[in-house]
Amino acid sequence: MRREYEYIVLGLGGLGSAAAYWLARDAGPDVLGLEQFELGHIRGESQDHSRIIRLSYHTPGYVRLAKRAYESWAELEKEAKEQVVLKTGGLDLAPPQSAIPLDPYMQSMRGEGVEFEELDAGEIMRRWPSWRLTDDVHGIYQADGGIAMAARANAAHQRMAKEHGAHLKDRVPVTDVRSADGEVDVTAGGLAYRCRRLVIAAGPWSNNVLDCFGGNLPLQVTQEQVTYFETPHLRDFEPGRFPVWIWMDDPCYYGFPVFGERGTKIAQDAGGKVVTAETRTFEPDPANLKGVEDFARRYLPTALGPVIYTKTCLYTLTPDRDFVIDFVPENENVMVAIGAGHAFKFAGVIGRILSELAVDGQTPSDLSPFTIERPILKEKDPKRTYMV
Ligand SMILES: Cc1cc2nc3c(=O)[nH]c(=O)nc-3n(C[C@H](O)[C@H](O)[C@H](O)COP(=O)(O)OP(=O)(O)OC[C@H]3O[C@@H](n4cnc5c(N)ncnc54)[C@H](O)[C@@H]3O)c2cc1C
Repeated sequence: MRREYEYIVLGLGGLGSAAAYWLARDAGPDVLGLEQFELGHIRGESQDHSRIIRLSYHTPGYVRLAKRAYESWAELEKEAKEQVVLKTGGLDLAPPQSAIPLDPYMQSMRGEGVEFEELDAGEIMRRWPSWRLTDDVHGIYQADGGIAMAARANAAHQRMAKEHGAHLKDRVPVTDVRSADGEVDVTAGGLAYRCRRLVIAAGPWSNNVLDCFGGNLPLQVTQEQVTYFETPHLRDFEPGRFPVWIWMDDPCYYGFPVFGERGTKIAQDAGGKVVTAETRTFEPDPANLKGVEDFARRYLPTALGPVIYTKTCLYTLTPDRDFVIDFVPENENVMVAIGAGHAFKFAGVIGRILSELAVDGQTPSDLSPFTIERPILKEKDPKRTYMV
């Protein structure tokens, strides 16, 4: 059995599957992907029908990255002959003095030439009569916002990686990683592998892997949840009629039109308890669900209905909520990506960037905001700002 590869990807969730795909486009059978559980498992961050994708972001850098994300998804769609992004339009709503002000979002989009509309409460309710807003709420509508079809996109990345010749092995936990003679030794499922470049995309398990390099980041893993509601008003919430939306305050709520289930999906962002990948449960938190229901009862009552199910999922949060996409310090043949609880929309482009770094040592994307060397990541007890 082959044990030496040019590239190994550790972790085949959203980001790792994308990295395996982009690497395989370049290096085909020289790519090995290693996943500790079965492909498509639900213990990590990336499995559900839908994730929000949007150009609306608070810095020009994220807007540029989001543009490249759409391009990367389109490349996958073309090759896989399968749709993975559905544009529904995206609505960001803000009450006065909201914890997440809309101004930086509008400035960033203006700066990057992204068209959007500023809407007052009346106009929002005229276009989408399901909203019940007070006059002081305002919003931004951006037509490219929509759904990244998470589970389907992961499967498409994995399928296409394999079609390009990559080897994807599941149920093989990586238990040790070390640099050796300019290469990297990886122990997985009791077997020793060696590669020239290693990509770490381990989500909530990232620090376990980084420990092998003597480094550890001040990450917080939280147990989040989303709930599908069996609205009796299905037609009003069809993807062609209702956008994805984010309530830009603290607590921050977000939701989807009907997609993947017979109802709407609504959730609180970064509202979960701090856990680890080992201590997390799959039990929904009733207080979190009550917060979601109270919010929707007030502002979007017809989206509610009997709970279809609540699904738990993990975030891996950096203190500033920016990603980590970088080489591991003093290991120029090892790369790491951490998604900070908002990376699915970028999975395709992050995989592409990791592949560019692994193959060429450089990327056209500006990674300076995502460096592992930023001061806040060196603090033991950093201030955590999740509402951005
Ligand atoms: C409820 C929820 C809602 C979200 N909503 C959005 C949204 O609307 N828009 C958006 O853009 N993002 C959203 N996100 C964030 C986004 O989903 C994540 O940032 C992204 O999926 C992270 O992917 P990942 O590959 O880093 O992690 P994961 O998908 O967890 O993948 C890591 C993989 O590494 C494997 N692994 C770890 N250690 C080892 C090891 N030692 N050996 C082998 N394998 C290993 C794991 O088993 C896992 O499969 C949401 C996340 C959640 C939980």
